[in-house]
This record gives sequence, C-alpha cells and structure tokens, in this order.
Amino acid sequence: MPSKFCAAPFLHSFVSTHGKKFLCCWATRWSYDDRWSNDTDFDLEDWEGEDYQKIREHMLEGEGWLPACGECKQLEDLGQQSLRQWFDQVWEENGKPSLNVVNGNSFGVPISYDLRFNNLCNLSCRMCMPESSSQLAKEAERHPDIWPNWQEHSEEFKVALSSDKDIEWILEEAQFVRVLKILGGEPTLQPQAKQLLQKLIDVGNTNIDLKITTNGTNVNKEFYDLITQFKNVRVGVSIDTHPDRLAYIRGGANGKKIWENIQKISELSWADQYHISTTQVIVPYNVFDFWELGQLAYETPWIDQHYSEVVYEPYYQSIVYMPEKWKQKAIDIAKENECYENEIHIFNAMMSHDENIELMKQLKSHTQLTDFARNKYLKDYHPICHDMLEDIQ
Ligand code: SF4
Repeated sequence: MPSKFCAAPFLHSFVSTHGKKFLCCWATRWSYDDRWSNDTDFDLEDWEGEDYQKIREHMLEGEGWLPACGECKQLEDLGQQSLRQWFDQVWEENGKPSLNVVNGNSFGVPISYDLRFNNLCNLSCRMCMPESSSQLAKEAERHPDIWPNWQEHSEEFKVALSSDKDIEWILEEAQFVRVLKILGGEPTLQPQAKQLLQKLIDVGNTNIDLKITTNGTNVNKEFYDLITQFKNVRVGVSIDTHPDRLAYIRGGANGKKIWENIQKISELSWADQYHISTTQVIVPYNVFDFWELGQLAYETPWIDQHYSEVVYEPYYQSIVYMPEKWKQKAIDIAKENECYENEIHIFNAMMSHDENIELMKQLKSHTQLTDFARNKYLKDYHPICHDMLEDIQ
C-alpha cells in the first residue's frame, strides 16, 4: 500500500446535516487542486461513481496525501493519531475485506457510517455553525451580522438542513454495518437515529461498534432503551469546559444538569460493554482553563475517558492563530496548574502555526456581537480570553 493509504473511501460514508455524502468528517469538503475536479465539489453521492473511483485509485496507487486530507496530514506531522490511522484499524479489525476501486470492498457497500441526520439541536455552541445547530440557524436569521455567510446559502440548502432525510439506502444494507457513529444536531432528538437503531436490532446486528455523540442535555428514554441493547457502545458527551462555566460556550446548556445526566447514562441497564467519555474542543475562549474539565473527569468514577482536541475550523475559532505571547501565557498557566503534560497534544498543536492577527480580529468582532445578542459576556466566564481580545487592535 502507498504510505498515505487510507481505507475510508473503501469502507466509510459520511453524511452531513444537509444530506450530502463526503469522504469522512475530517476531509475538506471540496477540491482545491487542479488534479482533482478543477475546483468543483467531489460528487460522492454514488458509492460506485467516477469521483469515488478516482479517489480509490489514488489511495491504491498514488503517492502522497489527497489534497482534501490536510487535517490527517497535520496531525501525523505532529506525531499524533489521525483519523486515517483509525480507519486502517477498522479495516484490520473487520478481517481486512478485500478492497476494490469500483465498489470499495467485498461487501460492495459501506460498512462504516458517520451520520448527521439534520441540524436539529437545542444548544447554540460558540464554535459550532448554523449548518449543525437549528438554534444557530435561527440566530443567523435574526442577526446576519454574526453569521454573514449564512445569507449566501440557498433556501434549498436551508430546507435540506432541517428536513428528515431518506435513510432507506442504509436500512437496506443494515446487516453489513460494522461501525456506526451518530452525531447531530443532537441525535437523541432525531427520529431517524431511532429508526436506524431499531432496524439494526430487528436484523440482529447489535454487535457493532456504536458511537453516539450527544450534548447530554437529556436522557431520552426511547433513545437509550434502544442503544442499551447494543453490545459495544461508546457514548461521548460533548462538554467543552467545566460545568460551572459551560453556559457561555455551549449556549443554552445547564452544566450541572448535564453532569448529572452523565451519571444517569452510566447507571442505565447496559446489555454488555459500554464506555462513557467526555469530549472537549479547545478554542480561544477555553484555552486558559480547559484542563479544569479534564481534572474533574479524571476524578469522576463513572466517566471512562476524557478527550480534548483542537478546533481548526472556523479558522477564527482556532487557538493555532492566537498571538504568540498569549499562547505562551496559556502554556504558563497550564504548567502552574500541573496540567501541561496531560494536555501536551493541545499545546503542541497550538504552537504548530504562526499567529494571525486578522483572524483574531474576526474572533473579537464575532464575540462582541454574539455576547451582545445573547446578553452573556466573555469577561464573566473566561476573563483571560477577554483580556487577550481586548489586547488585539
Ligand atoms: S486521510 Fe484522513 S481526511 Fe483523508 S479520507 Fe482518510 S480519514 Fe479522511
């Protein structure tokens, strides 16, 4: 295999909230290299289509990274685990089914899915986008200044985001599913998530690797009655900062209630193996105190694991572009609190790019407008980030 071979185009289908299919959740969702479709979108709707075949050929015979795979490249350059490596594991753990250019693998259909059925969500997180949250989509309609790009989307796109998707094509192949990730929006609110889980139970395919990412705001009985019947479940609760500060970053969230819900989820009657983790994304708002959540998670017996990762897009929400002196301050604070070593992957990623003050000005303006619209102010939750933005002229 070429050194940068990735099994994703042979095994996996990612479906976005607006119903389009892409290589995976990390791959850039368009092509920007002349060798690839002359700046037009990849068309990955047809598993056996021309673009898929071209990408698979590259994976089997080409050298170097596919242009869309910058995020995997970046992490591997930093010596960190990439999604590409995870897909290699999926392929190996499922007996290395033979791969082919035309329909991917010996089953002829994806065996791994990452599904986002629509953008229905009850929260409006600061680093999220209207494409993934119906609350943010409403905010974008009310306050175009905050979300200037939203108005460029067609009505068709907006309707597609919120509408129920046809999942017949997955239901028909339910017996071949080996890995299933369901995200949102908020999956516990989505009828299609329940429909697919029920179908997998009906065909007896409950021994899959099932991963649910939820915001933890509710423990929906109907949803959890379904997922507790699966034999290998990972529930990742997205909670980006200490519960006491959560209401700022995750608009509409009640941190205390979410923390209680994590315990309730752990106490359900699980059929077999399950893991509950907290997952946290690091943005400039929480970079000076994010490790408080990791400390709390490590002390909490019903949480199996805690994950933290850097946000790269939107660019203005990425810590990699912060001013160098404030990056150093974040490192100093983590060291003072003896959290630097535990979170060194975050700080290494942060130092991997040069500062970009124009992007930080964009963050400042976006933050001020959003704070005003929501009547929630950064200085009351993350005062050091507030000082950093004040310092940017
Ligand atoms: S190399 Fe990474 S970004 Fe590219 S398809 Fe594979 S997992 Fe996705």
